[in-house]
Amino acid sequence: MKDYSIGTNCVQAGYRPGNGEPRQVPIIQSTTFKYDTSEDMGKLFDLEASGYFYTRLQNPTNDHVAAKIADLEGGTAAMLTSSGQAANFFALFNICECGSHIVASSSIYGGTFNLIAVTMAKMGIEVTFVSPTASEEELNAAFKENTRAMFGETIANPALTVLDIEKFAKAAHAHGVPLIVDNTFPTPVNCRPIEWGADIVTHSTTKYMDGHGAGVGGAIVDSGKFDWMAHADKFPGLCTPDESYHGIVYAEKFGKEGAFITKATSQLMRDFGSIQSPQNAFILNLGLESLHVRMPRHVENGQAVAEFLEKHPKITKVNYSGLKSDPYYELAQKYLPNGGCGVVSFEIKGGRDAAQKFMKALKLAAIETHVADARTCCLNPATSTHRQMSDEQLAAAGIPAGLVRMSCGLEDKKDLIADIAQALENV
Ligand SMILES: *Cc1c(COP(=O)(O)O)cnc(C)c1O
Repeated sequence: MKDYSIGTNCVQAGYRPGNGEPRQVPIIQSTTFKYDTSEDMGKLFDLEASGYFYTRLQNPTNDHVAAKIADLEGGTAAMLTSSGQAANFFALFNICECGSHIVASSSIYGGTFNLIAVTMAKMGIEVTFVSPTASEEELNAAFKENTRAMFGETIANPALTVLDIEKFAKAAHAHGVPLIVDNTFPTPVNCRPIEWGADIVTHSTTKYMDGHGAGVGGAIVDSGKFDWMAHADKFPGLCTPDESYHGIVYAEKFGKEGAFITKATSQLMRDFGSIQSPQNAFILNLGLESLHVRMPRHVENGQAVAEFLEKHPKITKVNYSGLKSDPYYELAQKYLPNGGCGVVSFEIKGGRDAAQKFMKALKLAAIETHVADARTCCLNPATSTHRQMSDEQLAAAGIPAGLVRMSCGLEDKKDLIADIAQALENV
């Protein structure tokens, strides 16, 4: 719905019912779809007609919700996946194969880091990690003959660094490869990476898009801007005949706008089967209907909590790109003028003992390995996700033992701050 603003699209894009049809997106709870003739079905299998035949590949409920997310990001096509992990894997594996190389920001989600550095390495796909603050020269030096993609996160989880999307896109395009940006934390309400040069955008919809801690899911959006055919030698999967589809050349048949998502759906979804259930897509869409109303409140609460913590004598450091003291403040002003998200991280004097005492004393904020929920939650990496590491290893990884990550929810900020203040008194 190009003529409308993002808030209107959050509510209404993707599904426009006809006369007498359900107002809410119907949940098509069906594994399969019926046809009158084998010829009709054959056309679907040959990608000669569009339609549905099996929910492992595509489902109408998912497609309504994916179309909304494509609109929100300003892309030409999108698909839902079973998780954010599946979205990032599909986005990369759609253009990488054994022998390919990826350039990725080192400041990314731990799950994605493992996916690229360990699991995809076993598939023969190499990676070079670059600092999110690398200079143009350093970025250019990371590319190789076999580089097929560049990857980063708009706001990294949990480091909360802000990606210089234009700089990364320039380096990627100078080497004839697309920039893939995981836009989970800001959501398209606060940043639309395609407008800054990103070619593919991914999401863990599990986070703010759902926003209620109800359903795990992911999404991939194609900007429709990357010219695969201009770099056909690098992307044979898109630019040469697919024998499993009677010799279709995706980039020819579906153009820049449709090739990437069509290939990911018809090949990767067919073979890996990591589709989002239509039930989860329905729940995701309920979240999307209020995304533009919720994000400003998450930002308001994050900013208020960050400002409170920054002045507190028991806090040694606060990471939040909305603070003037934050090293990413300038980049955030450019890419996130309305704020980034509700996730704040901070160090408490006294290391892991102090962090544990503090979190135990919190009454509103729950201890969870989750972020971006309507309910405030927090985590001390040193005693949970990173508990196998010593204090020295933690320090080297930039995760001090006393670091707490807090995801500010939608509660009243006065109550959140009062809760944090009373818990700090216990430390
Ligand atoms: C959570 C997260 C993921 C992984 O998503 P899941 O839905 O948990 O699989 C990927 N990227 C970022 C930035 C995340 O925060």
